Amino acid sequence: MTTIIDGNEIADRIRADVAERARRLNDEGVTPGLATVLMSDDGGSKTYVSMKQRACEETGIEGIHHEIDPGEPAEVLFDRIDRLNEDPAVHGILVQMPVPDHVDTRTVLERIDPMKDVDGFHPENVGRLVAGNARYKPCTPHGVQKILAACDVDTEGKDAVVVGRSDIVGKPMANLFVQRDQGGNATVTVCHSRTADLAAKTREADVVVAAAGVPEMIDGEMLSDGVTVIDVGITRVEADTEKGYELVGDVDFESAKEKASAITPVPGGVGPLTIAMLMYNTVKAASLQSGVPVDLP
Ligand code: NDP
Repeated sequence: MTTIIDGNEIADRIRADVAERARRLNDEGVTPGLATVLMSDDGGSKTYVSMKQRACEETGIEGIHHEIDPGEPAEVLFDRIDRLNEDPAVHGILVQMPVPDHVDTRTVLERIDPMKDVDGFHPENVGRLVAGNARYKPCTPHGVQKILAACDVDTEGKDAVVVGRSDIVGKPMANLFVQRDQGGNATVTVCHSRTADLAAKTREADVVVAAAGVPEMIDGEMLSDGVTVIDVGITRVEADTEKGYELVGDVDFESAKEKASAITPVPGGVGPLTIAMLMYNTVKAASLQSGVPVDLP
């Protein structure tokens, strides 16, 4: 029997937990605040930001949304970040990526106060994660860890294969898996577009995390029996639907589920966890900045 992992259900539980922590902060006069900044006309980015704002409402977090015309110079964004860094009502700052080409992404990430960097992408927070002393774990890989924990998949001693080496998913995922910590202690292989024989790697895996952004590139032939498959990939593919597209993962779900003991669908797998972990990091940020403990590791 293959378990089809219900990401929405796991995310709901985490959000309820986080909302309870937000209430505790509220009781002490602290309202957790998350500022989202959008500098893009992209429909997908707009959707993601509005989903994050909606999640704030449902979790007892004050969502503060800022939009900057993508034609504005980079300084406009940098100035806005500076102001949010100074604003005591703002505990977390999220600049929706990608930013326009004339804005340097690294400069954006480094401009955000590391204490308010709830994405966990500032070099200080990346360094802490690698050193095994994470402040804010990046939301998507942290969500993957939560899924595995919820499904009682212990990574200790297991072979984990991460497909993708981006700074936001692949690398932090591999770093979390390799830590001497709960949800870690795995033997990790990181694959990417230059990997010589991807199937040979994925077939050795007990856990596969697919984060390449290539629709259905991993099929059942590339997996061994009993593997746990976590599909991070989301690609909009043209389709004869009302919206004109559908969302497709990196895994060919039908063939992979014949091999997997547990597998996440797309949509409804990792996506909801990413947003839940953003709420988690925001409440943690409010706790760290206010000094009111809420017991979020
Ligand atoms: P990037 O494009 O930044 O990185 C993709 C990675 O996959 C790169 O390291 C690339 O290798 C590798 N890759 C590409 N093609 C292949 C291939 N054929 N074989 C092996 N590796 C390959 O993407 P992101 O990490 O930002 O996102 C990955 C996917 O996850 C996307 O579909 C994205 O939409 C989705 N996503 C989903 C989230 C969620 O909440 N569910 C959150 C964030 C992302 P190389 O480095 O050599 O180019």
